[in-house]
Amino acid sequence: MLSFGSTRSGEFNQSAQYAILNGLAGDGGLYVPSGIPDLPLDLWTERSFEKTAETIFSAFFGGFSKETITRAALRYSTLFSTPEITPLKQVGEAYVLELFHGPTAAFKDIALSVLPIFLTEARRELAPLQDILVLTATSGDTGSAALSGFCNVEGTEVLVFYPDHGISPIQKQQMVSMAGNNLTACGIYGNFDDAQSGVKRIFNQGLNQPKYLLSSANSINIGRLVPQMIYYFTAYAQLVEQKAILSGDLVNFIVPTGNFGDILAGYMAKKAGLPVAKLICASNENSVLADFLNTGTYDRCRDLKQTLSPSMDILISSNLERLLYLESGCDARLISSLMKSLQDEGRYKVPSTLMNCIRETFSGDYCTDEETLQCICRVYDEHKYLLDPHTAAAWHVNQKREKTAGDGKADIVLSTASPFKFPQTVGKALGIALEDDLHAANLLSKTLDLSLPFALEGLASRPVLHRDVIKPGAMSDYINQRWS
Ligand SMILES: *Cc1c(COP(=O)(O)O)cnc(C)c1O
Repeated sequence: MLSFGSTRSGEFNQSAQYAILNGLAGDGGLYVPSGIPDLPLDLWTERSFEKTAETIFSAFFGGFSKETITRAALRYSTLFSTPEITPLKQVGEAYVLELFHGPTAAFKDIALSVLPIFLTEARRELAPLQDILVLTATSGDTGSAALSGFCNVEGTEVLVFYPDHGISPIQKQQMVSMAGNNLTACGIYGNFDDAQSGVKRIFNQGLNQPKYLLSSANSINIGRLVPQMIYYFTAYAQLVEQKAILSGDLVNFIVPTGNFGDILAGYMAKKAGLPVAKLICASNENSVLADFLNTGTYDRCRDLKQTLSPSMDILISSNLERLLYLESGCDARLISSLMKSLQDEGRYKVPSTLMNCIRETFSGDYCTDEETLQCICRVYDEHKYLLDPHTAAAWHVNQKREKTAGDGKADIVLSTASPFKFPQTVGKALGIALEDDLHAANLLSKTLDLSLPFALEGLASRPVLHRDVIKPGAMSDYINQRWS
């Protein structure tokens, strides 16, 4: 069975249950598995999302009972609106992997549909007398997916901190209208990095109240990453089925990236044997990751821009730490010193040997807001396919890149959100004037004669239940006052 350890200690002595329950390791590092198991080759052609989910969960989370793993795998068909769960669509020369058919219309639903099952099971085994406080910082989509996934789950309380400006009105309405006896959403006068840093600080300090155990629904939690591997495999299986590739052919994935969680799951899928040539990291104008992949220096010393792809408005991509760790051959000392440098100076430089290893798989580029709008318009005109702004950034990066030797046979662009979550931007791209944003999704769907995702139906008329907005410095007090 796999054990888990911190990227900053190099010791693997924790169970999957422990890692999922605690979220972040005690030394500030992130949990990683002691190795990436080889998954069976027949997974390349396995069309059932549930079966693939079960195989992946058993390999990585084998400490959980068979019953728990099956229950988690079966959750998808009850929560998602398409039988494929994540259907693959051919659009022109490329393929789009739609990850947004879940309860909040963004890809975060994949992991957050099952995390509550693993987390409550881990609590039952390891901390039955405590309640879990699931603390989460969100750039928009994690918040609503976490609130939805954990709604009324026994033994859990969920607190989501979101940047009050910098998320779309629909993303905000999804969170502030979420009903459930264990849910709280709270705005921050600041950006996503302020929210994420505040949450990490609270993790490091701990809570005053021993009745609660802190955990996280952010992609720092290994329980978020493993479920995200599933769709890399099922996308591949769909390509084989559509006879676009032969089993064994290499493919590329192009991933709209913020916290580096989605693309890291692709890397884990490759390590587990999936025939992946390139993982292409697409950023928006907050191009820290693209710059890092191109220069070898990670430099967050710049202002965060609010862009049309808000879920990628991030300067500190937490999961990069896991990639550096795994690619450096588990060099915990190197990782500790890079992360210290990031904290103290806001930047770090990665040794060129390590960068060369990373570049064998990864490349990166970015897309401006102007290019995002043009891309949405062009793809709609040419293919009658509507991209959301995040997916458009990835599409653009793929169009622009030069194909190299060793490139994959097919390009799969991950589509991380429904375009109807960002109707104003999509409308602007297509020259459709839309006013009040909460009704804009409806209007857009009528104008284009495309159906609205079930997740967004009736959203505008849901009552606002969460109204608090606080300063980033007050996050810790807010928790200690409410959960005491
Ligand atoms: C969260 C999110 C991303 C970024 O994913 P990471 O795992 O943070 O890299 C991209 N697009 C959308 C729509 C998202 O919600």
